[in-house]
Amino acid sequence: MCGIFGVYGAPNAAAMVHLGLYSLQHRGQESAGIVAVDETGIAKARRSMGLVSDGFEEEILAELPGSIALGHTRYSTAGSSTIENAQPVLARFRDGHIALAHNGNIINASELRRELENNGSIFSSTMDSEVLVHRIARSSSIAPEDRLADALDGVEGAYCLLVAVGNSLMAARDPRGWRPLVLGATDSGYVVASETCALDIVGAKYVREVEPGEIVVIERDGVRSVKVLPQKEARRCVFEYVYFSRPDSRIFGGSVDRARRELGRRLARDCPAPNADLVFSVPDSANAAALGYADESGLPLELALIRNHYVGRTFIQPSQAGRDAKVKVKYNAVHEVLDGKSVVMVDDSIVRGTTTRGLVAMVRAAGAREVHMRVSSAPITGPCYYGIDTPSREDLIAANLSVDEIAKHIGVDSLGYLSIDGMLESVPGGPKGFCHACFSGDYPTPPPTDPNKLRFGCGC
Ligand code: 5GP
Ligand code: SF4
Ligand code: MG
Repeated sequence: MCGIFGVYGAPNAAAMVHLGLYSLQHRGQESAGIVAVDETGIAKARRSMGLVSDGFEEEILAELPGSIALGHTRYSTAGSSTIENAQPVLARFRDGHIALAHNGNIINASELRRELENNGSIFSSTMDSEVLVHRIARSSSIAPEDRLADALDGVEGAYCLLVAVGNSLMAARDPRGWRPLVLGATDSGYVVASETCALDIVGAKYVREVEPGEIVVIERDGVRSVKVLPQKEARRCVFEYVYFSRPDSRIFGGSVDRARRELGRRLARDCPAPNADLVFSVPDSANAAALGYADESGLPLELALIRNHYVGRTFIQPSQAGRDAKVKVKYNAVHEVLDGKSVVMVDDSIVRGTTTRGLVAMVRAAGAREVHMRVSSAPITGPCYYGIDTPSREDLIAANLSVDEIAKHIGVDSLGYLSIDGMLESVPGGPKGFCHACFSGDYPTPPPTDPNKLRFGCGC
């Protein structure tokens, strides 16, 4: 997964992008990058591995002048985590520069890349996004939006894009609208971001969503909307509401916080735990769902697990202590809250089940008498091909075990998941218009011929 942020018409656009990227750090922690375009049309890039806070000192931002800038935070699979694959991509072609930042996953990237390579194109990264840059450069159209539309013709899958060509900044969203993208306004121009929490940090006002299948062109004389991409039924990713986006964001026209509370309330109605003493969340991603569960059930909400916020994704598991150590470094249980109690532990999802199993053991070791696990989404039974980095089917616990078997494996007294309908009915704008493929197996596109090949991709 990735976060993207673009600015048009700010005196120091790169500094504003830098700030915006801080708010999109949760969407990707492996690399960050900024491209800025100055008044003479010169584009410069800076990309670095790791967090936004690590790579962009003031001197570096000073080397990125201009009033147009775009940025990216990247979260990829292991193995493709290299600086060559950091974004935004910046390339020069006969008519100047193309800078591009992508959130999503292009399903037919391998086919499109082979076609380009057969015609002599040379690639400098293993990202699916680079395919788009080549296709923009090869278009014979003149207007930037026509170039982008030509490039997107025949591209399948999920994409939210920011593209700078000449003095235009464009934002595009695939026709199914898998990933969120919003337009905001500042005093002097416009901002485009994956989520509204990034508008808030720069003081931009929310204008609207970039619509599925829309290309928004921002130029000196304002904003234009172009709708030349084929119209398809919307398939917004329901997992953005469940887990991925920040609760202080509005995405897909709805509040993530409200969505999660409603998921929690529905969970309390569908999977009650009447004899429990208290409810707690697995922080932070399940906090709002646990609030909803507590509110609906009338049980007190407690802080039973404390998360260490200084443990990054790069934490290396000490070999002698094994997987449990990884959980212990990230979480600890509060004995005084748990001792002798029958508890409801709310989490947003179970993927592999390894973290959950470790947490349940920790909660029991802190004295909990009974542990009732409640999950504010349906069982994940298949991989995602549209930008979320879920593991392959063999590693997904719910693809291989029944709910009863999972309960035994993770060591709980009872386990309740939301149903797919319960989940879809709880999110703003639901139940129609959402992708739920990893829960239901109902994939909106044919699965890619070689899913592993996608792993070479932006992986976001
Ligand atoms: P598991 O028990 O499956 O190992 O881990 C479950 C936890 O993983 C939950 O707390 C859930 O919030 C979190 N989770 C779900 N999806 C993702 C993801 O894509 N990346 C990361 N880092 N955590 C995830
Ligand atoms: Fe979201 Fe799952 Fe669809 Fe992927 S498969 S886009 S995670 S709902
Ligand atoms: Mg979590």
